[in-house]
Amino acid sequence: METYDALLAAIAPTTGQTRTILDPATGQPVGEAPVHTVQDLEQAIAAAQAAQPAWAALGHDARSAALLKAADAVERSAEELARLLSREQGKPLNGPNARFEVGACAAWLRAAAGTPLEPETVVDDGETRAELHYRPIGVVGAIGPWNWPMMITVWQVAPALRMGNAVVVKPSEFTPLSVLALVEILNQELPEGLLTAVSGGREVGARLAEHPGIGKIMFTGSTATGKAIIKSSADTVKRLTLELGGNDAGIVLPDADPKAIAEGLFWGAFINTGQTCAALKRLYVHDAIYDAVCAELTSVARAMPMGNGLNEANVLGPLQNRQQFAVVARLVDAARDSGARILLGGNPDPDQPGHFYPATLVADIDNSNPLVAEEQFGPALPIIRYSTVDEAVAMANALDVGLGASVWSSDPTEARKVAARIEAGTVWINKHGAVDPRVPFGGAKQSGYGLEFGVEGLKALGVPRVING
Ligand code: NAD
Repeated sequence: METYDALLAAIAPTTGQTRTILDPATGQPVGEAPVHTVQDLEQAIAAAQAAQPAWAALGHDARSAALLKAADAVERSAEELARLLSREQGKPLNGPNARFEVGACAAWLRAAAGTPLEPETVVDDGETRAELHYRPIGVVGAIGPWNWPMMITVWQVAPALRMGNAVVVKPSEFTPLSVLALVEILNQELPEGLLTAVSGGREVGARLAEHPGIGKIMFTGSTATGKAIIKSSADTVKRLTLELGGNDAGIVLPDADPKAIAEGLFWGAFINTGQTCAALKRLYVHDAIYDAVCAELTSVARAMPMGNGLNEANVLGPLQNRQQFAVVARLVDAARDSGARILLGGNPDPDQPGHFYPATLVADIDNSNPLVAEEQFGPALPIIRYSTVDEAVAMANALDVGLGASVWSSDPTEARKVAARIEAGTVWINKHGAVDPRVPFGGAKQSGYGLEFGVEGLKALGVPRVING
């Protein structure tokens, strides 16, 4: 018996094809997920279209009240949701992982409910009075990845609902149970048909992106899929928010204190066992403190327990799927073969069940090495030596992605000067990857476009309407 059994039963498919979802830590079955079809998608869109006008007519206050109740519902079921998430995604209950993710769902629902959005008077000069309002888009499609399946669904769904839209969610085929369970809980407080999860494969996502009944796609996932969505949404000129892949650089300035920053660097890179869009994926360290940073980081990383997520002691888990394990293994092997120095890890146990790859630190690596240039999306951090700040900034900006970045220094003024030279959607100082529902978040370059969170995030889920009289 597991605490989430009732939830699994509630989302269990009664008809149609099903798929057994396996625990990435053990290979054991977690539950049965429906394999929804394009026909199911059509029904969900029709139901959303039917439910949306009445929801829009409720107005902001009543919609916000429903979102606050939905946040309470998530909290009531927090432990069931966290345990199911841990088993399906692999992330441990503790650390910045499953319980943290479910907590973030409630926090982002409350933030979407509580952020004020007033009509703006743009010009009022006696002759012209122009006001900017936002009306609902209609039905929004939300397509998500497998790394933070519940939290990212809420990031997409909460502002969409607040703005008066209905939503059809297409979860990743790797983590459908987490999203179906979350949507089941949210629906305790929402009108029927307004929010539906359709748990199909890529063809369902592709149809959602081209469907004439959908006004906007909120997409979080790889850059390659983002490009496919731009193409398939073109004929209907859909609005898009694209949160795509990243390869975030961190620059450690020579005046940083290696011991003081080591834990922050570790979690910046290894949060969710490295499977995070805005994780630190390439670390540039000044020659003067290179060896000290490597040593401190190694001692922090060595102490972090990895294992089955349901074991309360663990803070690192398996990779969610074998494909991602293969990517990480290939990149670390290529780094080793090139002569880079493995400080820690790089030696997965072939006899261990599950997709565990140990926390891995790679030093003395060339900036052109694939482990630096490609997105590893897993627990392997390359540490590159630099000698001038100009050189570090040039290397940080050299790639065609720019989601996040960070600068580490004992001098905040100096750190801000370097931050202002970096081409990324967010540059953190002495931390990395810390998202906040009040602060806009989005990518630069091929990491995507559009902003989430805060008032900017609400505006992105409405159609601007100017009233000019
Ligand atoms: P993915 O692109 O493989 O899949 C994401 C979703 O897109 C899935 O639901 C999938 O079924 C769907 N999909 C696939 N093909 C489609 C198509 N042609 N049309 C419509 N939908 C389609 O991504 P993933 O492997 O699940 O996630 C990992 C990637 O996501 C990494 O690159 C990571 O950096 C990125 N990511 C970005 C952010 C961010 O906020 N920028 C957050 C999390 C993850």
